[in-house]
Order: sequence, then C-alpha cells, then structure tokens
Amino acid sequence: MKGNVAVIGAGLVGAVAGLSLAQEGYNVTIFELRADPRLADTGDKNLRSINLAVSNRGIRTLRMIDPQMAERVLADVLPMKGRMIHDLKGNQAEQLYGLYGDAIYSIDRGVLNENLLHEIELFDEAKNEGSIQTKFEHKLLNVDFGNDSDKDSPVEVTFRRKNHNDDVRLKFDMIIGADGAHSTTRAFLGKKVRMDYSQQYIDKCYVELYIPPSDDPNNKFSISPNHLHIWPRRDFMLIALPNTDGSFTSTFFGPWKLTESLKTKEQISSFFSDQFPDAVNLIGENTLVHAFQNNPKGSLLQVTCSPYHFKGKCIIIGDAAHSMVPFYGQGMNCGFEDVRLLTELLKKSKYVSEDAFEAFTETRHKDLLAILSLALGNYHEMSAKVTSNLYKLRKAADGV
Ligand code: FAD
Repeated sequence: MKGNVAVIGAGLVGAVAGLSLAQEGYNVTIFELRADPRLADTGDKNLRSINLAVSNRGIRTLRMIDPQMAERVLADVLPMKGRMIHDLKGNQAEQLYGLYGDAIYSIDRGVLNENLLHEIELFDEAKNEGSIQTKFEHKLLNVDFGNDSDKDSPVEVTFRRKNHNDDVRLKFDMIIGADGAHSTTRAFLGKKVRMDYSQQYIDKCYVELYIPPSDDPNNKFSISPNHLHIWPRRDFMLIALPNTDGSFTSTFFGPWKLTESLKTKEQISSFFSDQFPDAVNLIGENTLVHAFQNNPKGSLLQVTCSPYHFKGKCIIIGDAAHSMVPFYGQGMNCGFEDVRLLTELLKKSKYVSEDAFEAFTETRHKDLLAILSLALGNYHEMSAKVTSNLYKLRKAADGV
C-alpha cells in the first residue's frame, strides 16, 4: 500500500481521482459534504446542469483506470456528431464536428455520478491492493499541514458531520482537494503557499429548461438525438442536449439584466416566441413559463490559481483548481484529465508525491490557462459566429 489519501469532494472529479489512486494501490477515503445521492429523498441533488457533454479528453482517463469500468460508466451516453443550428424561423442546419464521425457524448450528470459511486463499491468488494471508501455528510472544516521541517509529518483534516455534536479529526499522508469552485481545500492551501488566485464572474446566467419526449410512438425524440442543438442569438442563446428517454435538457444563457427582466408570463412567452419559436413548441408554453419563473438561475464563474500544491501533502484538481465557464463543455473533462496526468506523474516519480505534485503545477498551468480562455471565447463562437457566412465557408473548407 502506497499511503493513506483523503480526497475532499465526491463530485465527478473526486470520484474519478479516488478510483485512480486506489487502482494505484493507495488507501483512499473520499469525504463529501452532501448526503449520498443514491439514497432516495435526500433532496440534495446537485442543481447544476442535468446533462453534460463528455469528450475524449475525459473518456481517456476512465479508460486509463480500467477500460471495462469506462464502458460500464459510459453505457448510457448518446453520441452528438455535430451542432444543429436553429434560426429564427425554426430552420435547422447541421455543422459536423469532424469528417470521420468525431463526436462528443451526452450523459446525465446524476447517472454519471451514481455510476462512479457504484464503481467505488465494486472496487472495494474486489479486494484489490488499494482500497477506497466514501464518507458522506462530512464537511471539511480545517486543514493542518503538519510540521514544516518534517516532510513525513501527516496532514490533519477536520470534518463536521451532520447530526453529530463533535467534529472528527483524521490524519493522512496526503489530501487531494476536489471540492469544486468554492474549494475549502484551496482556501487553506492559499494560506500555506504564495498562491496567485483570481476569480471572475461573467455577466451571463443560466436557466435549465426541459423538452419532453415526443408523443410519436415511432420516434421518442422530437429533434435529432445526435446533435447538440443551438439557438444562437448573439447576446443570449438556448442549447439542448439529448437524454436517453427521448427528452432534452435545454439551457438558456443570457445576461443577468435581461434574464431578470423577464418576470411575468406575458414577458417570458413573448420573448421566447419571438426568439425561439420552434423551442416554445417543443417545450410547451406553460411548462416553459413555469420553469423559467421557478428554476434556479445559476451564475457562471472562472477561477484560476497557481501553484496547485504544497510539498507532497496537498494538491487541488478539477474545479477547485480551475473553474471555467461551460461554453466549451470541458470543465469536467479537464478535471478528469487532471486525474490522468497526476496519476502518470505519480507513476513516473515512483510515487514520490512531492515530485509528482511539483511537476503537475509546473506543466499543467499553461494548458489550463489556455482552455479557460478557449471556454470564454466559445460563448462568442456558439452564440454568434456559428451563424456567420464567413464561418460557414471556412468550416466547409477546413472540415472542423
Ligand atoms: P464539483 O462538481 O463542484 O464537485 C465538488 C464536490 O465537493 C461537491 O460534491 C461538493 O458537495 C463537495 N464539497 C464542496 N465543499 C466541500 C467541503 N468543504 N467538504 C466536503 N465536500 C465538499 N463540464 C464538461 O466537461 N462538459 C459539459 O458539458 C459541462 N456542462 C456544464 C454546464 C453548466 C451549466 C455548468 C455550470 C457546468 C458544466 N460543466 C461541464 C462543468 C462541470 O460541471 C464541472 O467542471 C464539474 O462538475 C467539476 O467537477 P468537480 O468534481 O471538480 O467539482
């Protein structure tokens, strides 16, 4: 056994990090502040986008851990081979992602999370060299990085448990912070090392909407299930990703001022009928108004920081290290890629975590800054550029 590791956060990246480290022979415990999402009626489901696009960047990590596990986890994906652009009149135009069938894959966020937690159970039952367990309703409160002059001194982490009066303190050889954009691990790491840090909210919010399965007994999908649908309208846009049951999860992105100005049934109906007439037919006017008025309005945040680690004792990955706006569909995929690169660096350094963490900070930062900037830029691409004639001509020539 290579050492005891605490992973903070059982979100998508924390679960994958736990599986990868356990596969390498570490003794892993994952701590999560929420209740177990598999338990009914916890009321604690993650409110962020209902489905996600998983791409080769992310799939490669799952396959590295275990190709059969990757197949099980991704059993219910739907391939999206390109964009389908909807204009103001409801006409649709396809833009393929590649000439050779390249695709990204739509998957339900809850299903993906639950599949990963199921894999954690399977791993533990299989009695491998490493081990992995999950502790839900454990909120990280404090990180004590131990004695500075002793690199082998353990990290002590304190958790508050739901329905317990006393906090629990535990010691680990290293901790991996995968606790999301508002990471507590990052806050403690930032007190320990000279961390450059920036946080930027963009002036766009998002609201999730829902296109139900069609009534047609011969085809449960009312629009193509193999495209990422986009209604680009420059300052705002609507997108829709397919679900296996025939429904689509649709997301409206727009400036806060515009979104908050749409309050009454009349305002919402008239805005959507003017801008997205075919989408109103797909969603249904009353359902649309109800969802727009009642669903949470999410903010969009970008976080950058560096370094990502302290000695061989702590490292942050996923949104904790690099939260990005969702327009490139790469936030989770990039978090999975962090796991692959970190695992490869641990192997390369013969599991000397200090060397691996150091190399991660050195080599990863430039790439992360690049993808964060691509993610911001892709709003313009999705909401405006996809409609320009020049873009269409260039795309036809490039095949990208
Ligand atoms: P999170 O998912 O935030 O998980 C962090 C976990 O840590 C949570 O479970 C949280 O409860 C837990 N936690 C937090 N604090 C503590 C604490 N103190 N103690 C213990 N546990 C704690 N990405 C893609 O790749 N493709 C897409 O198509 C895509 N679409 C998106 C659409 C939208 C609208 C949005 C907002 C994001 C999208 N993303 C997409 C980004 C993706 O959702 C994130 O990058 C991904 O969820 C990050 O995973 P994570 O595990 O790092 O963080």
